[in-house]
Amino acid sequence: MKERIPVAVLGATGAVGQRIVAMVAGHPWFRLDAVGASERSAGKAYQDAARWLLPEPMPEEARALTVRPCDPGALRQPLVFSALDADAAGPIEEAFEAAGRLVVTNARNHRMRADVPLVVPEVNGAHLDLVAGRPGAIVTNPNCSTIGLVMALAPLWERFGLEAVSVVTMQALSGAGYPGVPSMDMIDNVVPFISGEEQKLEAEPRKIFGRVTRGTVVPAELALSASCNRVPVSDGHLLRVSVKLGARAQRRDLEEAWIRWRGWEGARKLPSSPELALAYRSEPDRPQPRLDRDAGGGMTVSVGRLEPDSVLDYRFAALVHNTIRGAAGGTLLLAELALSRGLGSLAAV
Ligand code: NAP
Repeated sequence: MKERIPVAVLGATGAVGQRIVAMVAGHPWFRLDAVGASERSAGKAYQDAARWLLPEPMPEEARALTVRPCDPGALRQPLVFSALDADAAGPIEEAFEAAGRLVVTNARNHRMRADVPLVVPEVNGAHLDLVAGRPGAIVTNPNCSTIGLVMALAPLWERFGLEAVSVVTMQALSGAGYPGVPSMDMIDNVVPFISGEEQKLEAEPRKIFGRVTRGTVVPAELALSASCNRVPVSDGHLLRVSVKLGARAQRRDLEEAWIRWRGWEGARKLPSSPELALAYRSEPDRPQPRLDRDAGGGMTVSVGRLEPDSVLDYRFAALVHNTIRGAAGGTLLLAELALSRGLGSLAAV
């Protein structure tokens, strides 16, 4: 790439937005050109508006940027990352789409829209073709737990088929943004409720494993049941998953499917692609959030604890770093894939 593409980050002051800002700074293809947030932050220097939450220092090129309102007239960059609160994201992202920009978003608002791709690059990167040839488009990153789930399921789906999946999540605090769930609710506690999460986990994988026909996605036939819990872990969602396969398979067949899986080839050699998208852990007590969330720089999903299941066929555990692979890092990888396929007005850059 001769020149780095100027990008705007919407919701740049939030937990996910900050990670995107940190990842865009120093990215080989992108240049941080503008930051947007709410009216509360607009007009301030980014270093004053953002309560910086990451261990590494705020990137130098971000500090002095003036936070802009999230309006395509004020932010003219061809590529827009959105980490907006879902209460605000819907019409704002549509306005950028209508203005001919490529919007790559973490927000849930447009994920299930028929003409919007919902993509995990290694699993269904080809779904991006839904927006091929459109000057403005929205492409969406799935829910953070969905990403971990579909990456763990993809090798099984591709090799044996799946009839039914039951998943119980233990989700980290950072998934609720900042300041998130009050400490008095979380210390010495587990909260068996995350608003809307179970519905997302039951709907999104069907679209991701679906088939693109005539400009829309036909969802996959797959029975899914999800139960979601918030636990006092800082980062890293742990999922316990039980599956009924479409074909008979031995335990070693599942292990081999995970170990050999490299994901869709178009997504393998991008700047944010981890060496291994999926890591199989054979130890009896892995994966664990504290020990495994940073695998592959937070971009590798870890699976393990494979056992026969007495109700369905097999059960296992999967771990995803929710703010890296599940949000900011996943979004960057998705934008890299979109760019490598010549999507949006980027084709002209
Ligand atoms: P957050 O920390 O609450 O940040 C929200 C951002 O949205 C802030 O920059 C905020 O700006 C901005 N905002 C709020 N209302 C706005 C408005 N009316 N106009 C313009 N900007 C507005 O949330 P987060 O955890 O980073 O999550 C961001 C998005 O990613 C959400 O849609 C979330 O569901 C999704 N997501 C999060 C995770 C995760 O692990 N945290 C994972 C996957 C997806 P101010 O600072 O000015 O208020």
